[in-house]
Amino acid sequence: MSEKQTILIIEDDRAIGNFISRALTANDYRVISAYTGKEGLSLFFSHGPDLVLLDLGLPDLDGLEILTQLRGLPREIPVIIISARDREAEKVRALDMGADDYVVKPFGVSELLARIRSTLRRAERLKLSQGIQRDVYQIKDLSIDLSRHQVLLDGKEVHFTQNEFKILELLALYAGKVLTYDFILEHIWGPYGGSGSNQILRVNMANIRRKLKENPSEPKYIHTELGIGYRMLDD
Ligand code: CA
Repeated sequence: MSEKQTILIIEDDRAIGNFISRALTANDYRVISAYTGKEGLSLFFSHGPDLVLLDLGLPDLDGLEILTQLRGLPREIPVIIISARDREAEKVRALDMGADDYVVKPFGVSELLARIRSTLRRAERLKLSQGIQRDVYQIKDLSIDLSRHQVLLDGKEVHFTQNEFKILELLALYAGKVLTYDFILEHIWGPYGGSGSNQILRVNMANIRRKLKENPSEPKYIHTELGIGYRMLDD
């Protein structure tokens, strides 16, 4: 990819906005900045960015309203929420509404850059997976072949039940992103199948981790985001 990727920052705090903008420009991204929600939406449609950094507390619109509008579009552009709101419920809400990631202020530049890279990689992977048949997710000594339904750990095949594999597949496809409990339950068991109980998911995750020889206190592949969901690491 030789062309610069464009990032739209929607943030009313100019000091933070400028700070992020300088960091992104220095890292070879093209940056456009908006200081209100309406300006943000207008720049979004005029510039077609590759990714949006979205503050929730804006003077005219709530960030979640903007997220809803962006999620109503046919082509999904990744959105990372940058917010001072650090309550679990707020994060779950934004992630369930389709945000790709959530970074709590104050954050370090390197963390933000890592989340941006991971989100852009995932967007690329999802685009590819729609057109390409063979897709292999690889991290450390774990390899998940999504088209062959085959999992290799340190070169040896590991067997999973159908639901366990579906969970792994979902986590791998969205590697780097926190998937909420409800998101996973709905994808694997349908809108009503797993409703109201995370227990079935927890049991499956425990089995997956046992088969992957994960040490729960030092996970190599799958992180638990307490009270929110799970995130598969992506490199
Ligand atoms: Ca704000």
